[in-house]
Amino acid sequence: TQNKETGWNFDNSYADLPESFFSNVMPTPVRAPKLAILNQPLASFLGLDVQQLQSETNVAVFAGNRIPEGAAPLAQAYAGHQFGHFTLLGDGRAVLLGEQLTPKGERFDIQLKGSGPTPYSRGGDGRAALGPMLREYVISEAMHALGIPTTRILAVVTTGESVVRETDLPGAVLTRVAASHLRVGTFQYVAAWGTEEELQILADYTIQRHFPYIELNANRYRTLLEEVIKRQAALIANWQLVGFIHGVMNTDNMAISGETIDYGPCAFMDAYDPATVFSSIDRRGRYAYGNQPDIAGWNLARFAESLLPLLGENQEQAVAFAQDKVFHFGSLYQVNWLSGMRSKLGLFHEAEQDEALINRLLTLMKTYHADYTNTFRALTLNDLENDDLFKSREFAAWQRDWQARLDGQEESRETATQLMRKSNPAIIPRNHRVEEALAAAVDKGDYSVLERLLAVLSQPYAYSNEQVAYAKLPVATACYQTFCG
Ligand code: AMP
Ligand code: MG
Ligand code: MG
Repeated sequence: TQNKETGWNFDNSYADLPESFFSNVMPTPVRAPKLAILNQPLASFLGLDVQQLQSETNVAVFAGNRIPEGAAPLAQAYAGHQFGHFTLLGDGRAVLLGEQLTPKGERFDIQLKGSGPTPYSRGGDGRAALGPMLREYVISEAMHALGIPTTRILAVVTTGESVVRETDLPGAVLTRVAASHLRVGTFQYVAAWGTEEELQILADYTIQRHFPYIELNANRYRTLLEEVIKRQAALIANWQLVGFIHGVMNTDNMAISGETIDYGPCAFMDAYDPATVFSSIDRRGRYAYGNQPDIAGWNLARFAESLLPLLGENQEQAVAFAQDKVFHFGSLYQVNWLSGMRSKLGLFHEAEQDEALINRLLTLMKTYHADYTNTFRALTLNDLENDDLFKSREFAAWQRDWQARLDGQEESRETATQLMRKSNPAIIPRNHRVEEALAAAVDKGDYSVLERLLAVLSQPYAYSNEQVAYAKLPVATACYQTFCG
């Protein structure tokens, strides 16, 4: 059912799954929908008409006031370990409208977030505030531009209503686009409360949607586990390499597709320190920067447990297989991370001493409270002044070893610098920059600061003069705190 004007082209494969996987829920209409921001490149990619999307009739779709033709709204059920505690969850403030089939034949979930209560809301209001929704827009676009798999935001609309948080805040609804919203927690839900047949249906559905190339494998569920582990090893390495801190890596916030999902209290690290935590609710630092790889491994163990009934008749062998694969995640992650770190230092091939060289630099960065992004950018530009780290004797010694390593490789210095430019973003979404843009938009209705920020973030490897100037401004964000929104 394609709409000729807007290009909406919904299919509803998730709605064909067993009834217990979801609840049919309509979004709750809002008083006065108004488009706050539209992601034009994403709209075009999805086969949607940028002009038509801005019409009143379609803004009503983004607000949940009108259901587009072919959509079959539902809230998904899932479970999850939240800070280690297992619980029943589900979309408490979101509805899946359906799946958009793109002109290329790809399938993407179209989900409204902040669209009102569902059977899974448990006391929550089902709503969202404008600030956090715009924040999700900015950070997910930055991640996309950095080349990191992520869900993306198609649009944010204001509702003309307030949401009650610590104070009254302007309300908003966001339209999220995802390869799917299947989570580790979706598998945990079916493993805990469904039948084995339902678990198999979920696994087959997942394979069809994300791993069609393994469909014919002899033991495809074992391969599914391996593939999910592989994608997470790549994803988490990508996060670490750019200094991204997710903030709430509960199992319900880990997508099976390998995309980054659930931008709540996430933020980018400034000064390098593995203990960095921004989230106000993460008091013990469970989800600190340096813990992310271990937490991912822990979450994958929960995924493997959920899959166990499908991993072989002989459960002892199934457990052994799962343990081996989950154990392997650590080294798989390490290979990805090391390879990314080599590129950040302009190194093309593996050498035994690289890991030590990299760790020496990181240790110095920690000692001198060096900014993570700016240090690698300075190394890339060979702009090594104005920094305690670069003035130190230990750094001079490290630099000599690094230079020797660079001189020892066949590739020229010039190609090494090119590799560094491709691997070290000139700019990341700085916390104070994001806050400044959100404040202008939310408090004054001035979206120009946000638009400018989005523009510089959209080409993080361009090393334009504007970016370098933008990035050089103060970084001071001591005690920065993030909230779940
Ligand atoms: P999160 O911490 O964002 O992963 O959310 C955890 C759970 O809380 C999910 O089931 C959400 O749908 C639910 N939730 C978050 N905010 C609200 C809200 N304002 N109203 C209802 N449910 C919510
Ligand atoms: Mg979540
Ligand atoms: Mg959230």
